[in-house]
Amino acid sequence: MGGASELDELRDEAVAFLDEHWDLDLTLGAWWEALARSGLGFPTWPTEWFGRALGNDALGVLGELFRAHGAVGAPGGLGQMMGGPVVMRHGNDDQQQRHLWNLASGAESWCQFFSEPGSGSDLASAQTRAVRDGDEWVVNGQKVWTSGARTADRGMLLARVDMDAPKHRGLGYFIIQVEQPGIDIRPLKQMTGDANFNEVFFTDARVADADLIGRPGDGWAAAVTTLAFERSGRAGVVGVGVTQRSDLGERRRDLRNRKLGELVERRGARRTTSPDARNPGIAGPLSPVSLIGEPGANRTDPVRQDVVRYYVQARVNAMSQERARADAAAGKGAGPASSITKLARSVATRINRDLGPAILGAAGMLAGAEAPHGGAIAHSTLQAPSTSIAGGTDEIQHNILGERVLGLPREPQVDRDIPFRELKVGTVRAEARGKEEQ
Ligand SMILES: Cc1cc2nc3c(=O)[nH]c(=O)nc-3n(C[C@H](O)[C@H](O)[C@H](O)COP(=O)(O)OP(=O)(O)OC[C@H]3O[C@@H](n4cnc5c(N)ncnc54)[C@H](O)[C@@H]3O)c2cc1C
Repeated sequence: MGGASELDELRDEAVAFLDEHWDLDLTLGAWWEALARSGLGFPTWPTEWFGRALGNDALGVLGELFRAHGAVGAPGGLGQMMGGPVVMRHGNDDQQQRHLWNLASGAESWCQFFSEPGSGSDLASAQTRAVRDGDEWVVNGQKVWTSGARTADRGMLLARVDMDAPKHRGLGYFIIQVEQPGIDIRPLKQMTGDANFNEVFFTDARVADADLIGRPGDGWAAAVTTLAFERSGRAGVVGVGVTQRSDLGERRRDLRNRKLGELVERRGARRTTSPDARNPGIAGPLSPVSLIGEPGANRTDPVRQDVVRYYVQARVNAMSQERARADAAAGKGAGPASSITKLARSVATRINRDLGPAILGAAGMLAGAEAPHGGAIAHSTLQAPSTSIAGGTDEIQHNILGERVLGLPREPQVDRDIPFRELKVGTVRAEARGKEEQ
């Protein structure tokens, strides 16, 4: 966490940086590269890797400044949020050199190949296999709910490398190239009308041994780090965002070649100077805190009280997020702090879901570009349930807190020490798997 004078200095430095570098004639790629080199885009990352080793309060200070300036923030996405920290903690020198600049500069976006049709909450039971073949591994299996897979350059892949080890000890964690013949990606349509999710089929897909993070069989440790950072939230400074329509197949690398002027203009209506810069993920331009100030908003007492409730929840969430990130950075894994953050985000999302339409009335229920805020309020109402599921459901977070904080009896785990080959997992019977391999 940065002290007051440290944050003041950071603010002054960032003002000077924005004055010197922010230029609408730059391409997004050139801007992101300048930001990465300055260490201001990812201030919570270590100094040797494009950061400043500061706490989340630096993200808040810089985010407020960037938005006020109308400047685009650091590249976002699962790679930046989870992949970077995983590579820093579990990757070797070569992997850090190859991947971290690409993430910090937004040259690549990554997706997360974790969930499978039979393995969501019980992630350690993943059945996708990776079998060593010389300098490569050959991957077969299926993933599902893979956000952004169609536009990702690489994916964080959890795959079984040892059928004879118990389920947590036989996994490998790979950074796999997505565009290759062995990977077939099929979009899944959501109730919002978007298709951000995908089901992904691996048929003799290939990944280099050099892209195995840690040792074969140690993948669970990297998976836990991934989840800790996923649950504790964002990584880089959020300014005026750039919307990548991954559901329309728009790729990050194409976006990077566009001029900032064009991208900022296109985003126009979503510019913001949100008062709650500590948590722009929740209290962004469309947050109830902003909406209630709009002309014609419902400002009756019950609604005002709920906006305050939301505001308090969002602030508490920002503090929990700070704690969770500190824990994750200290290598404490996906522990109680990240579960509390995840649950707090679910609560705030639900209040937000109800407040949008309450404040705007019928206008808050309209969909489509012609609707107020481009239909974003109705969209976020439909999107709201996802927060309680993605990155581990609310029930799973409750279990973690019950067991690790309240000291309640652990869930029975009869399969923990049994070789994976002998388990009946998902839809595939163990005997059938055994025969298939003979
Ligand atoms: C918006 C969104 C984005 C996502 N993006 C990705 C992605 O990019 N990559 C990826 O790999 N996955 C992704 N997921 C998948 C997500 O991680 C899983 O949906 C989640 O972990 C739950 O797994 P499941 O869907 O298989 O549900 P299940 O595990 O089958 O759970 C079904 C229900 O049972 C409950 N339950 C299960 N086990 C227990 C238990 N032990 N105790 C109490 N209740 C239990 C759950 O809480 C849930 O209500 C995404 C999901 C969403 C919603």
